[in-house]
Amino acid sequence: MKIYEKSRVKLADAKQVLAGGVASTLRGSMKPTPLYVESASGVIVKDVDGNEYIDYQLAYGPLILGHAHTGFNAKVSEAMAKGITYGLQHDGEIELARRLTEVLPCADKVVLSGSGTEAVMLALRLSRAYTGKSKVVRFHGHYHGWSDSIFTSFPSPDMMQKATSAAANSVPPGTKGQSELSLQDVILLPWNDPEQLESTLREHAGSIAAVITEPVMCNSGCILPEPGYLEKMRELTRELNIVLIFDEVITGFRLSPGGAHGRFGMTPDLVTVGKALGGGIAVSAVGGRKEIFELIDSEQVSHLGTLNGNGVATSAALAVLELLTQNDAAVYGTMEGHAVQLASGIRSLFGKHGMRGVVNQIGPVFHMMFIDEDVVTHFDTFQKRNAARYAKFAELMLEEGVLVRPNGLWYLSTVHEAGHIESTLAAIDRVFARLT
Ligand code: PLP
Repeated sequence: MKIYEKSRVKLADAKQVLAGGVASTLRGSMKPTPLYVESASGVIVKDVDGNEYIDYQLAYGPLILGHAHTGFNAKVSEAMAKGITYGLQHDGEIELARRLTEVLPCADKVVLSGSGTEAVMLALRLSRAYTGKSKVVRFHGHYHGWSDSIFTSFPSPDMMQKATSAAANSVPPGTKGQSELSLQDVILLPWNDPEQLESTLREHAGSIAAVITEPVMCNSGCILPEPGYLEKMRELTRELNIVLIFDEVITGFRLSPGGAHGRFGMTPDLVTVGKALGGGIAVSAVGGRKEIFELIDSEQVSHLGTLNGNGVATSAALAVLELLTQNDAAVYGTMEGHAVQLASGIRSLFGKHGMRGVVNQIGPVFHMMFIDEDVVTHFDTFQKRNAARYAKFAELMLEEGVLVRPNGLWYLSTVHEAGHIESTLAAIDRVFARLT
């Protein structure tokens, strides 16, 4: 039995002064207790009780290079030595912007921000300004950050369910404290349903500024778009003068150097990226069509942020892009190979232990769930999974020295190796035996 005593004591201490005890609400859901970290290196995290874990949570996505990557750290330290942020311009901004326009197929230009939430806020603002319309279509089960104008109830065991209940037919708020009016411009639709998308877009085309979607529904089941669905979305939005935003905060630089849209050969009008871009340092970007960014060039749309484009953020992003793309076929091939090996190994273990479950995988990311279905292609089906059982599984995996998110989403990094995959599968085998 692992001991988590020091983490428990620290949480109690934190609760005296840190609201909620943790720095981001989701982290509080970890069982048996939110862990406190002593240090981390590569794919190994060591907690304050001396326990070690192979990490598949990767800080909720940013650590595509793993922890404390020496090449990455060297570049960031070098930048820090020249001053962290200036509130003035520097070459790193131009270099990063140019590199982003090279790797993101849809980006003629970019802007730089600090978080995925901010990038989404700006993409929505640009869409409204560009079209002169105000409504935004978003989908059940997707997550686009926690700003009031887009944060709606996200029915997932590790996301807040404590919001006030919504009146029938209105969009439920994601949290208490959101203005009643903040979601009045949001139209919430089921995803992977082309008919409903088409009828809604045609009916309300005159008032819809944007459709925002995760191109793969990573936040709820890692569900792929059905063949032709995103293409249909692209056709309709183009026809009806609606800005198409791909929120690639998870898929960006993960599914390919050009994200999901690069991998799928698609061209959204705007793309939001974050997480992996900074390798653990706060940085995000919006990329897209130059006609839309004209609104910023002409100072009609404001884009603000004290720390935007700071030297640490730009050097971190440039380091990530360099390390991911200097031999991209090998880097992405290895990450994806490990994800495929884990996903298929887990499916075999479901069979071996007589369990029903689904693993949806693409690139170096997958969602594992216990569910009485053969496939999960829609949010409604995903909702039927046994979330409590998965949370128990995640807790037992900690005992085995494997750190996974309590909601089922796994990330691979460039520094996971074959040995990690093998020992993880052996651990899952033992945990499944205890779960049955
Ligand atoms: N968009 C997506 C698809 C996300 O998954 C997230 C975070 O998980 C965000 C936006 C918000 O990003 P951040 O947490 O950096 O504000």
